Amino acid sequence: MRRLTLVNVRHLAAVSLLLSLLICEAVGITQELVYPPNAPKILSDYGDWSGVRGGRRDQEHAGIDFAGRVGNNPYAGAGAPVLATADGKVQTARWNDQRGFIITIAHGRDADGNYLWTLYFHNQENLVEIGQEVKRGQRIATIGNTGTGSAGVYHVHLYVYKGTDARFTPQQNGQFPVNPHEYWVDGPYKPTCFDPAREYPKDRIRLTLPVECAPPEKKQ
Ligand SMILES: [Zn+2]
Repeated sequence: MRRLTLVNVRHLAAVSLLLSLLICEAVGITQELVYPPNAPKILSDYGDWSGVRGGRRDQEHAGIDFAGRVGNNPYAGAGAPVLATADGKVQTARWNDQRGFIITIAHGRDADGNYLWTLYFHNQENLVEIGQEVKRGQRIATIGNTGTGSAGVYHVHLYVYKGTDARFTPQQNGQFPVNPHEYWVDGPYKPTCFDPAREYPKDRIRLTLPVECAPPEKKQ
């Protein structure tokens, strides 16, 4: 039997590093999340197997759960505003036993030809009606813990759906929840706080956070 020399070990290490990089690339986990320090925390991220209380989920999380308030207390946030993540039209504003008070906003057609929708679950109260036009940053609901799926924790669950059909029929006609982190205004994996003073791109549908950020720290 051949002995494993130092060169072989180094070679093996290089190969395994290369392999792990390739695997990361393939499953898209090379992107590092750049999260605004003044934004409410993510309690359960897209792709997470742990829920808002830390327990294991039955399936991978296909949305993002945001706390309603800056800080680490996941039980805080009741009544904090839920913001529209981009301009659009309210398509659904109703009750669902599992999802609580929900809102669906249709954002129209993106530059790549696909239609985009955002969905907001577990609201305490919906503040908009079906057919209403909403602007990015508009308060569309207040954060609640409604619906059995909220596990009693105050948060907003954000889904982003993409599809080729203008009608929204979840998980039919090729419409699937996609990774919201691909759609932030500042770029992929750069969740972006809503700033009323900012000009936003009109050519593509890109999102700002569905929760209010604290004012940025003032520089001394
Ligand atoms: Zn969720």
